[in-house]
Amino acid sequence: MPNKKIKIGVLGVGHLGQHHVKHLKNIEYVNLIGIFDINFIQASKIALKYNTKAFKSMSTLIEEADALSIVTPTDTHSQIAKKCLTLNKHVFIEKPITDTLKDADKVIKLADKKNLIVQVGHIERVNPALLALKPYDVKPKFIEIQRLAPYSIRGTEVPVVLDKMIHDIDILLSIVNSPVKDIQANGISIITDSIDIAHARIKFQNNTVASITSSRIAKEDIRKVKLFQRDLYCTIDLLLGLTEIYRIKDNTKSKSSIQAPFDYKGKKKIITYEKPTLKNIDPLKMELINFANSIIGTEEPIVTGKNGRDALEIAIKINKLILEDTL
Ligand code: NAD
Repeated sequence: MPNKKIKIGVLGVGHLGQHHVKHLKNIEYVNLIGIFDINFIQASKIALKYNTKAFKSMSTLIEEADALSIVTPTDTHSQIAKKCLTLNKHVFIEKPITDTLKDADKVIKLADKKNLIVQVGHIERVNPALLALKPYDVKPKFIEIQRLAPYSIRGTEVPVVLDKMIHDIDILLSIVNSPVKDIQANGISIITDSIDIAHARIKFQNNTVASITSSRIAKEDIRKVKLFQRDLYCTIDLLLGLTEIYRIKDNTKSKSSIQAPFDYKGKKKIITYEKPTLKNIDPLKMELINFANSIIGTEEPIVTGKNGRDALEIAIKINKLILEDTL
């Protein structure tokens, strides 16, 4: 535990920012010194709810803090992050890191030069349903991911690939330890002037193939990941928090209580079913604790600025391919 509490401010307290405020208030060695939002009425409302100060000037809050959580719309991230880093403050930037690769590179370069932390809020990385995979030797050869959400004006300042699909690109890059070899993509605009539904087929150099679909025009929220590899099939419901693993084993003793025996080419096999117990953690709180620990040097950021930049690079390529395809 550090001698002095880390002074953190939250910039942008809309839908997600208010949850940053709630969690930062409850991290022992963090002192939430205040919040800023261009909508002062919103800032005052959240300040009253969580007993903190609504600053009238962003610059004053940045100057008084050691670190900032940036939870403003994506097209403002780079400008705000650069302002914080210039004033020697660590930053937690909500995903995506920025809306252009050039800006992401500038933010990372500035942080490196000043030895400051840039962490990116790719929250699915700490989703308990995904963390449950850790004990298994997962090296999928085929991955299918679906992320569908009802329309909301929030996030529409960027195409669906940068708002929604980027979560799954980051998941893929964290699971498949191989560079991307080829991408095919298509998509269309339905309500906004940018792409609202997108599909990409990503092939990695180790021949793993991923098929990902993202939509912001859906009747209900769906966030599902399916992993396939020799002798293993895994389904993960990121929304409901459910991980199920089916494995094919020789028909000998197995710890699994549910087993389905079958014969394949004369060999006796069983399909085992496992449903790991998921950790009872709040992913956003976990990310923010990781940010605070990264500042004091006891942990490394789970999602670094470079990770955020790599996911953005693929997202931008996918969006470009879709635009070329629709011309
Ligand atoms: P929102 O529109 O609900 O809130 C954004 C807030 O920022 C608003 O209150 C707005 O007044 C304020 N704001 C706008 N410009 C500002 C500026 N220049 N300075 C200060 N305040 C400003 O949006 P949201 O849904 O909370 O999304 C915010 C960010 O969080 C986006 O980058 C989004 O991609 C990200 N996000 C991440 C997740 C996740 O799962 N990790 C989920 C939702 C949103």
